[in-house]
Amino acid sequence: MKSQQQYPQPISFEFFPTKTEEGARKLAQVRDELSVLNPLYYSVTYGAGGSTQEGTIKTVMSIQEAGYSAAPHLSCIGATRDSLADLLNTFINMGIKRIVALRGDLPSGHRDIGEFRYANELVEFIRAETGDHFHIEVAAYPEVHPQAKNAQTDLQHFVTKMNAGANSAITQYFFNMDAYLYFVDSCEKAGLDKPIVPGIMPITNYTRLAGFSDMCGAEIPRWLSRRLESYGDDIESIKSLGLDVVSRLCEQLLAAGAPGLHFYTLNQSQTTLQICENLGLKKRP
Ligand code: FAD
Repeated sequence: MKSQQQYPQPISFEFFPTKTEEGARKLAQVRDELSVLNPLYYSVTYGAGGSTQEGTIKTVMSIQEAGYSAAPHLSCIGATRDSLADLLNTFINMGIKRIVALRGDLPSGHRDIGEFRYANELVEFIRAETGDHFHIEVAAYPEVHPQAKNAQTDLQHFVTKMNAGANSAITQYFFNMDAYLYFVDSCEKAGLDKPIVPGIMPITNYTRLAGFSDMCGAEIPRWLSRRLESYGDDIESIKSLGLDVVSRLCEQLLAAGAPGLHFYTLNQSQTTLQICENLGLKKRP
C-alpha cells in the first residue's frame, strides 16, 4: 500500500439521516473525523417515497452549517412535480449545489408511483426547473440493476439518464473490479465521457453485507463470501479481511484511473479512515 498521497482523485462520503438528537450528535462527530480527508462533499440518502425527507433536510443543513458541502439524494418515485419543485427551492435556499438524483423504490404497500417513472425524468425536471444550478449525480450499476430486463437495455437507460443532463454518476458498490472497468468501457463506446465514480462499501459485518447485496444485486465473489462466512462471529477477522480486500480494490481502481471514490460509510468513520490510510490519502494537518 502507498505511504503518501499519490492520487489526485477526489473522495466523497455517504450518510443516512439520523432519527434522534443523539444520533445527530454522533454523526456530526463522524463527519468531523472524516473531514481530515478533505472530501469533495458528504451526500445524505433520501428514504423511498420521501419517508426521510425531514431527516435528510436536517442532516444536509447541519453539514452545510458546519462549513462543508452537502449533496442530498432525491428520489422521484411516488412524488409530484410540485412537491419536488418545493424541495429543490429549499435546497437552493440552503446553498446546496449538488444533488444525487434517483428513481428510488416504492416502499412495500405503496401503489401510487406518482408523476415520475424513471430517474431520467427527474434529471430532466431538475434541469428544466433550476437550469445549471445543480451538479447532478445519478446512480450506475456495473453489475446491472436488479430489476433490469437485461444488461443491454440497462446500459441504454443509463446512457439516456446521463444524456438527460447528469454531470456524473456514482456506482452501486461492487467487489468485481472487471465489472466496473467493463461498464466504463461500454459507456465510452456508447459515447459517454462523464465521470463514473465507484461506490465503495467497507466490509464490517458479513450478515448485513450479504443482506444488502441480495437486495441491490451486488455480487460478493464466492471466494470472499466463503472466507467471510468461515469467520462466524469473529468480527475482528471479518474486519481485517474486509479492510484488506476493500483497500486493495480502491488502490486498483485509483491506479486504473477511476475519477474518485464514494464511500458508503454507514455513518461510521473508522473503517473508511483505515482504508484511506492504507491508500496513503493525505490527511489535513
Ligand atoms: P433508474 O435509473 O430509473 O433505473 C431503474 C430501473 O428502470 C433500471 O432497471 C433501468 O434499467 C430501468 N429503466 C430506466 N429508465 C427506463 C425507461 N425509460 N424505460 C424502461 N426501463 C427503464 N434509494 C433510495 O431510496 N434512496 C437513496 O438515497 C438512494 N441512494 C442511492 C445512491 C446510489 C449511488 C445508488 C447506486 C443507489 C441509491 N438508491 C437509493 C437505490 C436506488 O433508488 C434503486 O437502485 C432504484 O431501484 C433505482 O434507482 P435509479 O435512480 O437507478 O433508477
